[in-house]
Amino acid sequence: MKLKRAKAYKKLLHQYELNFGFREPYQVLVDWQILQDAYNFKIDLIARLEKILGGQVKPMITTCDMRHLYAAKPKNETLILQAKEYERRRCNHQDLDEPLSTLECLSSVVDPKDSKTNKHRYVVASNDISVRAHMRSVAGVPLIYITKSVVLMEPMANASEEQREREEKSKFKQGLKGQRKPDAGPKRKRNDEEEGQSIAGGATGDARPSKQKREKGPKGPNPLSVRKSTKEKSAPEASASKKANDAQPSTADATNTHDAEASGARKRKRKHKPKGDDTSAAIEDDGEVTAP
Ligand SMILES: [Zn+2]
Repeated sequence: MKLKRAKAYKKLLHQYELNFGFREPYQVLVDWQILQDAYNFKIDLIARLEKILGGQVKPMITTCDMRHLYAAKPKNETLILQAKEYERRRCNHQDLDEPLSTLECLSSVVDPKDSKTNKHRYVVASNDISVRAHMRSVAGVPLIYITKSVVLMEPMANASEEQREREEKSKFKQGLKGQRKPDAGPKRKRNDEEEGQSIAGGATGDARPSKQKREKGPKGPNPLSVRKSTKEKSAPEASASKKANDAQPSTADATNTHDAEASGARKRKRKHKPKGDDTSAAIEDDGEVTAP
């Protein structure tokens, strides 16, 4: 499966999970025709289904479609054996003399009350065009089919998409109501409107929502300003300490001055040897320490 397609399927499944409550293991109603086509293309249908849906799959076949397999000419024994391992979805058509068409049977199984909802959250894997066309009118039915030996999932049908949007809107409204509940009603409503304005045209005014933003605000610039202040602080401190060192050498600097004294002493030895003269030595020391 191509990476791009796999990503699209993952996103699609996520939407089905969020908006229609799909969960693993995914119940996949397979019709006899897609089984036959998968057999002809030598496709391991269940493995492909698991890849597409990205999870465990529980394949199911209706009693009517099982009967279609038995009635097929030529009869495909391997396919029958394979389909027998799937969970049998009883459709209450078993007492009829002839099985219903896949369209009639699957329609009654997926949406028994014709309420355009996929109550039991079935995925439908069908290579019957009329079946898929009907299922597109039912909200929240992932549709899988085979074309040219490739197993594909249809993008979300309009009915599902509209249902999804409706639910998202209602959830959004519920969310807003939920926010309003703890606080007083009308005031909160005004704030919501202002929030909407600020989102649309940037933050303006001193309304309460902006006050919330202000509370959050200092967290952002703080690290920068702190860093800046430390730099400013540290620089004068360093220079101040340098001056202090010049004035009163610390113990660490004392060793340096001793070295300087030693080297200076050698130099001084050539020029003149004022061993007893402390003041002149101290002046020369200072000059030599500050020069480098
Ligand atoms: Zn049936």
